Amino acid sequence: MIWYPYEQMKTMKQPYEITDAEGVYLYTKDNKMIDSVSSWWSVIHGYKHPELTAAIKRQADKFSHVMLGGLTHESARKLSEKLRDWLPWDLDYCFFSDSGSVGVEVSLKMALQYYVNRGDMRRTKVLALEHAYHGDTFKAMEVGDDEDYHFILEAYGKKKNAVHIPTEIGALEQAFEKYHSELNCMIVEPLLQGAGGMRMYDVSFLKRARELCDEYDVLLIFDEVATGFGRTGNRFVADLVRPDILVLGKALTGGYIGHAVTVANHKVFSGFFSDDSSKALMHGPTFMGNALACSAALASIEIFERENYIEKIKRIEEISKRELKGLESPEIKDVRVMGGCACVEVYDSKTLDGYQQFAYERGVFSRPFLSYLYAMVPYVITEDELIKVFAVMKEWFASRK
Ligand SMILES: *Cc1c(COP(=O)(O)O)cnc(C)c1O
Repeated sequence: MIWYPYEQMKTMKQPYEITDAEGVYLYTKDNKMIDSVSSWWSVIHGYKHPELTAAIKRQADKFSHVMLGGLTHESARKLSEKLRDWLPWDLDYCFFSDSGSVGVEVSLKMALQYYVNRGDMRRTKVLALEHAYHGDTFKAMEVGDDEDYHFILEAYGKKKNAVHIPTEIGALEQAFEKYHSELNCMIVEPLLQGAGGMRMYDVSFLKRARELCDEYDVLLIFDEVATGFGRTGNRFVADLVRPDILVLGKALTGGYIGHAVTVANHKVFSGFFSDDSSKALMHGPTFMGNALACSAALASIEIFERENYIEKIKRIEEISKRELKGLESPEIKDVRVMGGCACVEVYDSKTLDGYQQFAYERGVFSRPFLSYLYAMVPYVITEDELIKVFAVMKEWFASRK
């Protein structure tokens, strides 16, 4: 049987069985619902997009996968060229992997080895944010600050190699003052911390982080696995502030096939480029650069550019703000919107008990967690569909008065 994610298997509620999906809709045997979560924020073009499906089929007719160890292929090469041209700054070197967590692991390994390759063994620490989420693998959990993973602290004791700070410039400056000679990198989910509670912060924090990283020669990693491809209203937050390493995942393939890429700039890449084989990056996921995933990613980026998604996301932001305006209840702590992400935070997580089924019965799929009720819709959603997503939220709070 299936062991489901983040669930107590003994008490979990039966998941909805999906039999078909198209556009923003998920279908069960007897219901149709708008996916307000975009399958963990990834399905930006909606389901069953004809161009994405065709790209995958075209590739499958040639081959679905060959490894990148000693072999290469057109789809991976084209995607790396596309990303080199499309991404800002000198983020030019693409290391592919099969999931966001692995993409983050690769970025952290790169940052550590960058210094080790220079003979600097003191820089073992990572500066990260409170409430950070960077994935479920072990190093990603260590640099993360997710309460659900605090069992690690219970079992292992204090984290030795990660320092967590709030998104405040004062705390940032203090951390650099105290730890700068031990830091190899700072890693952040820029502007929007997703799984940590849809927390939004100001770009001035990132600009100051960039300055301090330059001053103390620390690498800056943007984990844009969630924020990339428009979610914050920016194509990438990296368009605003320059990271040394950028990690993309989730929407990279339009949510069609799991894949991620860790993109390094010239400075990082040159730290590995050498006649000395021991300075090579020792990593190589079996399915890195998978041909179906690369084809889907290329098609996804083409649609994103051609159909002016940034405008679509601006519209989603405007409608979200308009529809959530005036949503008030003594149970609500905060309502916030950034780009294609809207979040209603309540004081007590029990307030959201039963919401998923309530929404299901009204034709919306939602998956609140802790005290956060949110929408991260596919960008192809229509105005009426988006209004419906928020109407169901409003009805929930009104019904509890
Ligand atoms: C989802 C997520 C990850 C992990 O990606 P997976 O593909 O689930 O391994 C890493 N970082 C951030 C910011 C994420 O939102």
